[in-house]
Amino acid sequence: MSLKELPSVEKLANSLSKSVSLPKPLIIGFIRRELDTWRQKILAGETAVRASIETSITESLNHFAASKLQPVINGTGVLIHTNLGRSPLGKTAANALQNIATGYSNLEFNLPEGTRGKRAGYLETALACLLDAEAATAVNNCAAALVIILRHLANGEKNEVIVSRGELVEIGGGFRIPEILETSGAKLVEVGATNKTHLDDYAKAITPNTALILKVHRSNFYIGGFTDEPEVSELSELAHKHGFPLVEDIGSGAMMNTDDLAPIDHEPTPQAALKNGIDLVCFSGDKLLGGPQSGIIAGKAELVAGIKKEPFFRAVRCDKLILTVLQESIDEYLRTQSDPSTTDIPTLRNLAETTDNLQARAENILGKIGKTSKAEITITKSIATTGGGTMPTSQIPSIALSVNPTGISLNKLSRLLRTGSPAIVGYTDQEKFCLDLRTIFPWQDDAISTQLNSKLNSILA
Ligand SMILES: *Cc1c(COP(=O)(O)O)cnc(C)c1O
Repeated sequence: MSLKELPSVEKLANSLSKSVSLPKPLIIGFIRRELDTWRQKILAGETAVRASIETSITESLNHFAASKLQPVINGTGVLIHTNLGRSPLGKTAANALQNIATGYSNLEFNLPEGTRGKRAGYLETALACLLDAEAATAVNNCAAALVIILRHLANGEKNEVIVSRGELVEIGGGFRIPEILETSGAKLVEVGATNKTHLDDYAKAITPNTALILKVHRSNFYIGGFTDEPEVSELSELAHKHGFPLVEDIGSGAMMNTDDLAPIDHEPTPQAALKNGIDLVCFSGDKLLGGPQSGIIAGKAELVAGIKKEPFFRAVRCDKLILTVLQESIDEYLRTQSDPSTTDIPTLRNLAETTDNLQARAENILGKIGKTSKAEITITKSIATTGGGTMPTSQIPSIALSVNPTGISLNKLSRLLRTGSPAIVGYTDQEKFCLDLRTIFPWQDDAISTQLNSKLNSILA
């Protein structure tokens, strides 16, 4: 076969730009790259006809277009879904973002004095107040927070970090605590066994080179049965007796007692950790806190100040958009502390929503879909989870729409919904396609009925 089989860039781009709404130069550039690959294949002896090359490029372009960041309706019932962007923002935070994003701001400017100002000053004080901590700051994510804490506290000769074997977790995305320690220049000293670590195990591991004891919250898995670990107060006493700090990576870090919102496991709060004797905590801003991707560091003022002076801090500092959203999220907690039911943090609202309300919404959606011969749709009980490395054993009672299509396979239906506009992601359970209402916002209900109707009706009778 010859290179003559390759389609013309212009012609293909003209035809594809009718169905794919990407900038034309991007479509042209994409086709060129695809054609280059085909050219190599043909020169290597592969055979293909023009029509199949065109089909293949069209498919690749559709895949590429679908990879552009876009809104997704989350029907999975997983509240903090890392693949679906973790925590959605509340209206107040989103409006603040819009205001700051479209104009100039006092990011590093002191308005009353007219001089250079302190970046994140407001946020740091608000965080410290909310957490009842001496000081606090924020960086790009919790992994970065942990790295900078370790770089500051464990370096040079004094770089040994004692961690219990039961806490050497993988925090997600393939990143593991031992590797994070290594990149930070710390030397890992493992103590205890997977299920049990005693105070004495920690005590025996202490040397003149011990920099700190690190506790890591087992946020994404659960150890049960024959287990034991020392109290935080005992560990804190041990660390302080030897003159080094006790640090905890609490991962998710619920800022309020989430047990009151839903029948779920207790998630440790940073407030309680600090009160119990931890010197420094770090946790994610976009897990149970329900804010933007960020990592919060809080605790002893001297330690936080030292961390902020590290040159590496500059490499992991938050930008103005994140700071805006985070400051709104923290204000929201401070505002609604006394009555969490009024909070504008979507993750917490979804967590606290009653199944009666979900049931009513499901009935409403079902009514809007009306009678269809293309599927059997019912309302079923389901189980939602927190996800995102929080409360691994928590099961939250929920309500789902359960769809049993007659004309097409479940895979085909779910693909049609995933590639629709807006995209809808559900899950399959017992040979049904399910959409859990707990993670779907009420303002998305109409899109559910419209999309289900249109996709089911697109199936030929
Ligand atoms: C999720 C998690 C992290 C990573 O947080 P990111 O904000 O995603 O970087 C670190 N430690 C623990 C224990 C976690 O659960």
